[in-house]
Amino acid sequence: MPIIVQKFGGTSVADSGKILAAARKAIRAKQQGNKVVVVVSAMGHTTDELIALARQISENPPAREMDMLLSTGEQVSVALMAMAIHALGHEAVSMTGAQIGIVTDSVHTKARIRRISTDRMQQALEEGKIVIAAGFQGIDERFNITTLGRGGSDTTAVALAAVLHAEVCEIYTDVDGVYTTDPRLVAEARKLSRISYSEMLELASAGAAVMHNRSIEFGKKFGVPIHVRSSFSDVPGTLISVQPESYAQPVCGAALAKNEARVTVQGLPDRPGVAMTIFNALAARNIGIDMIVQNVAAKGLADLSFTVPRDELPGALSALKEAAQQVGAEGVTYDDNVAKVSIVGLGMATQTGVAERMFRALGEKGINILMITTSEIKISVLVSRQHAHEALRTVHEAFQLHQPPPVCDAPPVSAATGVSRPNRTAELVAQMECMEELMIEGIALDQTQARVTVSDVPDRPGLAAQLFEQIAAAGVVVDMIVQSVGRDGKADISFTIPSGSLDPCLATVRRVAQSLGCPPPDSAPQVAKLSVFGVGMKSHTSLSSRMFQALAAAGINVDMISTSEVRVNVVVDGRHGQKALEALEKEFADVLV
Ligand code: ADP
Ligand code: ASP
Ligand code: MG
Repeated sequence: MPIIVQKFGGTSVADSGKILAAARKAIRAKQQGNKVVVVVSAMGHTTDELIALARQISENPPAREMDMLLSTGEQVSVALMAMAIHALGHEAVSMTGAQIGIVTDSVHTKARIRRISTDRMQQALEEGKIVIAAGFQGIDERFNITTLGRGGSDTTAVALAAVLHAEVCEIYTDVDGVYTTDPRLVAEARKLSRISYSEMLELASAGAAVMHNRSIEFGKKFGVPIHVRSSFSDVPGTLISVQPESYAQPVCGAALAKNEARVTVQGLPDRPGVAMTIFNALAARNIGIDMIVQNVAAKGLADLSFTVPRDELPGALSALKEAAQQVGAEGVTYDDNVAKVSIVGLGMATQTGVAERMFRALGEKGINILMITTSEIKISVLVSRQHAHEALRTVHEAFQLHQPPPVCDAPPVSAATGVSRPNRTAELVAQMECMEELMIEGIALDQTQARVTVSDVPDRPGLAAQLFEQIAAAGVVVDMIVQSVGRDGKADISFTIPSGSLDPCLATVRRVAQSLGCPPPDSAPQVAKLSVFGVGMKSHTSLSSRMFQALAAAGINVDMISTSEVRVNVVVDGRHGQKALEALEKEFADVLV
């Protein structure tokens, strides 16, 4: 008999009527011939209320006690859900994370799942019961209660579906699917019929809170089809699986992370190992950083900028205090008034002009771009928070995301980026010590590119668009782009292009630089781009520091970096390509599948 996992979010179990409605959905699935596991969140805003209560007692409550408190929310809903199913004449049994046997690490409030035993659930299912599992929680090896991070019930659900080899994991929520962007922010947002794991991972980690990003890591790793749909209707929702909605469109969705902060460590000595010290200090506190941009060094010094969620800023600043001193940096600056807008799409990997289009649209609205990072299937820009919503609406409109894309089911040959593996659950679980361990699918070396850097670009809307439009007009295809914040309000823009295009590109860039009053561009005729790709590349905060560590130990300096959930790219001096590849292969031998 097939197994189905159904997850009901907070709004879907907010009161007794809704709990009964959810119970009916579970019973219906059972009557259709399935074994059913239901995962529930805490009712309504319970988790928020519990957090507020804790804050009334203490500014900084112990994380272990926070987990003890927060886990009670889900315990209430599993009991009520089981009662609802009984009341409707069917059998059900509720279980806490500990009772199911969800074992996590001991990082309270952000724990990762190590393993799940299925015996007790299987036995209850065999007895014809509907199993009601508490989302968001587990226990560590010493029986302390842990929680998985806000929104973590999605992760419980997909993880249970993975270990139970469920046919599908249904996520019932207050929207009827995954939209091209948050429908609460952009009324024209369109429901996607399907979306690929890689795209959903990027969108979720870029701010689309409809799914917990770590749940999609499980989906991708273990090949679990995820169906996001409405708790309040029966219309089909959005299927998250290997296949995107269409291979023909460059962008499938846009996301906003409204509350971000930009941090810059200024005046770093430009030598191997310096960036590593900075990243290590942040990773040690589990602070996830994004949009990492290092200015190519001038006068032997470099500035390293990145973004963190605004509520992680105090932690990041205190971690950096010591690290910055240790490496002899000049100082740390920050701006906590910024927002990140990202566009995502598998098609971007094979289509040109996507970045220019985004920059142009923002420029035309007079929205200044403070930072840029691009990776194969995602482009992120940082804007001031006051422009956040307008910027999101602008890019949504620029890519006509409200329109259904042309139908195209077959991947272009070169679109290997992010295409997921077939279901290899058993093999993977056997290999992995922990289910949520980092999984690296490959490491690639590209020695065909050159780097160009334009410095001191005036900080005005539309200039990035102008630069990249002119480069495109010269027939040059740009790969990686990073723009950082300069010291005096000016920006540095670096990008990579095919080595063979360097001359025409430089001719164009010189002209543009001159017209903007910038110094002549700097360039390197051959750089090596190394890409590490897999699952959970960004949520595992230690990945970037491990990469930097391995490269530093080999005496290799990193010139450019871009991180995404499915890929981390670094650009190094072209002469060190092979050596860098070997260093990374050695570093990640244990997690390379
Ligand atoms: P639940 O409590 O069911 O887990 P969440 O509040 O976590 O629900 O997630 C659903 C919400 O996610 C929606 O109400 C919507 O506002 C928001 N959201 C953000 N981005 C998207 C998107 N791209 N598509 C759909 N919903 C989105
Ligand atoms: N109740 C938890 C939260 O609000 C987990 C979840 O709902 O997914 O974050
Ligand atoms: Mg949620």
